[in-house]
Amino acid sequence: MSRTVAQTVTQEETLTARFTGRSAAETGRAIVDLVRSEGVVSRVELAERSGLTGASISRTVKRLLDERLLIEVGHGDSTGGKRPTLLELNTVGRFAVGISVDDARLTYVLINLRGAVIGELVSAGSGLAAPRVVVERVAQDVQSLLARHEIGSTRDVVGIGVAAAGRLDARGVAMRSSREATEWEQFALGTALEEATGLPVTLEHDYVCAALGEFWVGRVPVTADFVCFYAATGFGGGIVLEGAVYRGSSFNAGEIGHMILEAGGPQCTCGSRGCLEALAGPRTVVRQALADAGLARRFALTGADDRIRPEFAAIAGAAEAGDAGCLRLIEESARYVGAAILSLANVMDLDRVVLSGPTFTEAGSIYLRAARDAVGRLSFMRQVHPVTIELSQLGLQSAAIGAATVALDGNLLTAKTGRSPATPTATAEHIGSSRRQPIGSIIRPSWSALSTPPPTAPAHSPATIPEPRSRTKE
Ligand SMILES: [Zn+2]
Repeated sequence: MSRTVAQTVTQEETLTARFTGRSAAETGRAIVDLVRSEGVVSRVELAERSGLTGASISRTVKRLLDERLLIEVGHGDSTGGKRPTLLELNTVGRFAVGISVDDARLTYVLINLRGAVIGELVSAGSGLAAPRVVVERVAQDVQSLLARHEIGSTRDVVGIGVAAAGRLDARGVAMRSSREATEWEQFALGTALEEATGLPVTLEHDYVCAALGEFWVGRVPVTADFVCFYAATGFGGGIVLEGAVYRGSSFNAGEIGHMILEAGGPQCTCGSRGCLEALAGPRTVVRQALADAGLARRFALTGADDRIRPEFAAIAGAAEAGDAGCLRLIEESARYVGAAILSLANVMDLDRVVLSGPTFTEAGSIYLRAARDAVGRLSFMRQVHPVTIELSQLGLQSAAIGAATVALDGNLLTAKTGRSPATPTATAEHIGSSRRQPIGSIIRPSWSALSTPPPTAPAHSPATIPEPRSRTKE
């Protein structure tokens, strides 16, 4: 069935929907988003923009001021009566932390309520360490990050968002599926981190965080159907359809790494055969390089479980620099990734695919070339519309930035009640009961509001991002 322009979710419609029939906390979050997009705004303007009554706005704003999420910043011009008090986000007093827990590195970002990254920290990856050890390290790292930015009290931190690999169970407890990290199975990472840091923690798939990171920085049109294809030790895809994250039946949609590309192919860690991960993941690339005596010697390859990622990074770096042997291996991996992206684009009729995560940061141009080639030549819809494929500009921070926005979105307005969004039930609540979860902070910060300039388009990217095309189809 065809979709019409009228059925397209516009930003305005999404906005209106956010203010009607919502709980006080949801209304509060929506008002915070509105102030974020307006910059400096009066209560009267908030009422006009949201459609809420003056009394409702006054009540909500009072709570947001009590929570120190908003601050008053002087007075606007009088329009006849009393001069209106102007409101602004409290960008110097409240923060959120985003963490990407990855085998190869732990990446932290500190963002203010406007979403600007104001601090960052990188430490050694989780590798094969036991979860308790990683939790202790994360708690110390968070403390260092906050101390470095002279944030003395955890009261100033709205919460922590954690981007992790693995499955979420029905209670929202992240679990690892990697056979090398069985201790992570059943480990309640969120609860342990809450105990260790004293802060609310919200867990999310790394690939969903990466998609939210792309959305947050505003590079993806609100109406685009896009997939953020995330690659670290495995592959995953944050699927966003008409402004909402597609969740699947158990909030685990997006396990692209286990898409079968060769029936009966090589054994995968998931128990199946011929999955993308088994054919093209970093472990497979390193194993193939080990079979080449020259490469194995040059890069001192071991193939050991805790060396897979750095050894892959060395091979990827050499491939990017033009080393013929390494290039052949990465191109073979990229051929499978291109096939997976082509299949996804065909199945979901996508507008856009963003390649994100460590693997695509290390050898992005090779994977990008393969994906564009496959989709450009073979997409079933190529004569109907183009599919934009591009590299994320957020580099190794993409998942951490998205995780921080998850913390902002999930943890605002909860401090007073003491309710922790990261308790398993509450996390599932945060994720929502709908299979398609609207992106919370649909109003994205404008570039002028961010401390860093917008990324410039790389040479291999299209010069302009096309406007969302009309949805009218015959
Ligand atoms: Zn698999």
